[in-house]
Amino acid sequence: MFRTGVSGAEGGTPSRAQVVHHPMRGNGLAPYPYRLSMYQVPPVQDITVEEFEQWALDRLRVLADIETAAARNQSWPETKAAIEARSAAHLPLHSNSVAQSGTASGAAAKTQELLAERRKDHVSHFVLRLAFSRTDELRRRFLHAETTLFRWKWETEHLAEREAFLRSQDFVWRAVPAEQQQRFREQLLAVHPRMAATFDTESFVQVPWHRVPDLVEKRRVFVHQGTAWIPTKEQTSLVLAEFQSGLQAQLELTARALPRLDEDDRLMPVLEHLSMGSMLGATSDYSSASLVNTDGEAITLTADMVVPLVRQHAPLCMRHLQETLSAKHHLLHQSRLQYNLFLKELGLPVEEALVFWRRSFSQMTDDQFKSHRYNIRHGYGLEGGRHNYPARSCTTIISGFPPGPQETHGCPFRHFSQANLSAALSTHYHISPADQAEILASVQAGHYHVACTRVFELTHAAQGVRRGDGLGQGESVSHPNRYTEASWQRAQQATTDA
Ligand code: SF4
Repeated sequence: MFRTGVSGAEGGTPSRAQVVHHPMRGNGLAPYPYRLSMYQVPPVQDITVEEFEQWALDRLRVLADIETAAARNQSWPETKAAIEARSAAHLPLHSNSVAQSGTASGAAAKTQELLAERRKDHVSHFVLRLAFSRTDELRRRFLHAETTLFRWKWETEHLAEREAFLRSQDFVWRAVPAEQQQRFREQLLAVHPRMAATFDTESFVQVPWHRVPDLVEKRRVFVHQGTAWIPTKEQTSLVLAEFQSGLQAQLELTARALPRLDEDDRLMPVLEHLSMGSMLGATSDYSSASLVNTDGEAITLTADMVVPLVRQHAPLCMRHLQETLSAKHHLLHQSRLQYNLFLKELGLPVEEALVFWRRSFSQMTDDQFKSHRYNIRHGYGLEGGRHNYPARSCTTIISGFPPGPQETHGCPFRHFSQANLSAALSTHYHISPADQAEILASVQAGHYHVACTRVFELTHAAQGVRRGDGLGQGESVSHPNRYTEASWQRAQQATTDA
């Protein structure tokens, strides 16, 4: 157990703005009276190291979906749907109204649930804030994802709850005096022509113009002497701007305090792991499931089935390994590890795996194959420490040992040169130059899983997969086995429909 307080990292004693965080203790939800939070006060409570990491990973799943939605240019309704689904599973956050219905004992239980949800939200935000404050790039990505998450919470919150939350905050908005509003009537109406009939009943607030760059950029606001005049109705932009600028400042303060954490050998590996996952924009939820036939029965793979299955359904990383194995009759150590665990988790029994590998290593003597036999069985948990090793996820493959000369493991989207990737996309999938350009742009932006997801969509278009569908319902690629399973399911579905 350890305490999560990082007040040093937040710049010391909270300011006046920070301590107004919990004024409505009377609603029985202290210290979390609202579902919305500006995260101004760091948590100071005991939690376990497991909670510290697990809660952060759960939040990271939501943020990764937000990043993926942005990288795939998804609309706001699509992004909202993705956040909704992922939050429900990993970071549920219900409104206060949940605790106000039913019997007294039911309401008390609901109150405890709300408090537990909000505690997790609070702690996980601050853990990721630490993990993401390490570089400019991570700070930028965290800021965007957290602001988007806040926007979703804001838009899905009840009006009364929003207003109560706003009253609890200490925002620097100033009401525009009525006589000033009249004085600039013409300029204000030029920006808001639809207000012509209602102008005298409207009201405006003024904020420094740089707090609402989106409105200034779109010329949706009147700017006067460095202040932007915003209709009180456009509260969402204002609140988002407050959230964003507050978090940006806090991230910079946290970054300055980070060296002080370097000595904590419990926290630093966790924070590094979290920020690495975030760089890849994907976290995997995959747990192995057998491939099933059209009757829904699990199929047992045989050695003979491996090559056609991989050529038809596996992602480029595994396809590349198989093509290299077929051409050279050999794979180097890391490649063997990556491929063996992939095939194991697809449902290839160890006896069939030994047949497959022995045949593939056709230029080797039985004696030379002995050590490989041991390593294959080791991967199945049948030798040595008998660990049941999982198949590698995209995050593990992309962030693991990069392939050296002659090596073929890794992720082609991460580790191939542009020319080689382009050639592989043409050779294996016949992807057009225009589609390749889009895939290569995702790769250049570091969104490897987005590029891989687009390849899945393009190569399954004949089965009705469209842009934005991903592996199904917008799911992005996060695991080679999940990719293969989704491709297999599509083919089975097509057979059933035919
Ligand atoms: Fe394989 Fe994942 Fe890379 Fe796709 S993104 S090629 S599944 S490692």
